[in-house]
Amino acid sequence: ASIFDGIEKGPPIEVFALNKLFLEDTDSRKVNLGVGAYRTEEGKPWVLPVVKKAEKAVVDDDSLNHEYLPVLGLDTYASAATALLLGEDSIQIKNKNAFGIQTLSGTGALRLGAEFLARVMGRRVFYYSEPTWENHQKVFLSAGFTDGHAYRYWDPTTRGIDFDGLIADLKKAPEGAVIILHACAHNPTGCDPTKEQWVKIADIIEEKKLFPFFDSAYQGFASGDPVHDAFAVRYFVERGFEIFCSQSFAKNFGLYNERIGNLTVVQKNPATSAAIQSRMTLLVRFMYSNPPAFGGRIVGKVLNSPELRQEWMDSIKIMSSRIIKMRKLLREELENLKTPGTWEHITQQIGMFSYTGLTEAQVKILIEKYHIYLLASGRINMCGLNEKNYKYVAQSIYDAIQATK
Ligand code: PLP
Repeated sequence: ASIFDGIEKGPPIEVFALNKLFLEDTDSRKVNLGVGAYRTEEGKPWVLPVVKKAEKAVVDDDSLNHEYLPVLGLDTYASAATALLLGEDSIQIKNKNAFGIQTLSGTGALRLGAEFLARVMGRRVFYYSEPTWENHQKVFLSAGFTDGHAYRYWDPTTRGIDFDGLIADLKKAPEGAVIILHACAHNPTGCDPTKEQWVKIADIIEEKKLFPFFDSAYQGFASGDPVHDAFAVRYFVERGFEIFCSQSFAKNFGLYNERIGNLTVVQKNPATSAAIQSRMTLLVRFMYSNPPAFGGRIVGKVLNSPELRQEWMDSIKIMSSRIIKMRKLLREELENLKTPGTWEHITQQIGMFSYTGLTEAQVKILIEKYHIYLLASGRINMCGLNEKNYKYVAQSIYDAIQATK
């Protein structure tokens, strides 16, 4: 007998289970619209040329070694990441009211920020959009939060944001509640608030004394311009809010498995900076001690060099433009086929994902009959489309809708 006898499996993680099904599928028509990673026109992962260049430079740099990094990471990297988010000329950076902490990608930044809020500050209540990235709730609950609430976000009838619902729900939040906000390219809906809507969200957060925790996993990926994509975060910070913001360089640098992220902290009192950093240091020390170096060296090198940074911006444009083009092709084809329903939302939504509005029954048909893999919520990754398969996908969506009428 083993002491582990009787341990039961936990529930599968949908997106990884779906990917496994896709890999095992031998049908030549198969299409993967599930996993949240960029794919080229040929359906392949993409190592950005500038990342390759920076990787080589890091490997060849004899001044570098494998000594431990500081607990809060590589400062040249974390400062560059914070400046990318807040702007090089951010007054909060100048005043030393903002700083970055290198984390284990975006998830690690969310976890560290949530640990701090729960364990150091005793916060228990958090709000997440309905729907949201499926890991938000789990990360916050694992970090010590106990009381998670949804705020309305998606309106299935308009296939856009339920803004009145969102405001009504935030108004109900108790003082001190932590509000998770997607900085841009909302996952899974692809719908971001307008500038005017952000102003109203900020008004409520200020009035009700809530704490905004931004999640920035797609800076540059939404519009192709990192400055444009940082609008919401910069607006809050310029308005004087204290915030946390998790940043991920998984998507916009294609560094998924290097686990390179940053937690940007903006706070009003420069005198408390050292105390916050000290408590963060202890949280990291007890979780994983200190972060890995390679991803931070790459991103730091690129962001800190004007030429490499420009190359990176060019690559972001290539990725975001390809996504926008696929949106256009898919929508046109669905409309050409006279697929029941309206399809403007496909091109109105931004970022990697589209919330199609397909029902669970339709998704099941797409997977089982057409070998097209997508989440049960109807979320598709636009990068899974290319000029060779978009017509097949549109026709299959048409058929799935007809079959469930
Ligand atoms: N937040 C959102 C909204 C995401 O979509 C993702 C990844 O899919 C993440 C955070 C975290 O990603 P990672 O930990 O790979 O940086």
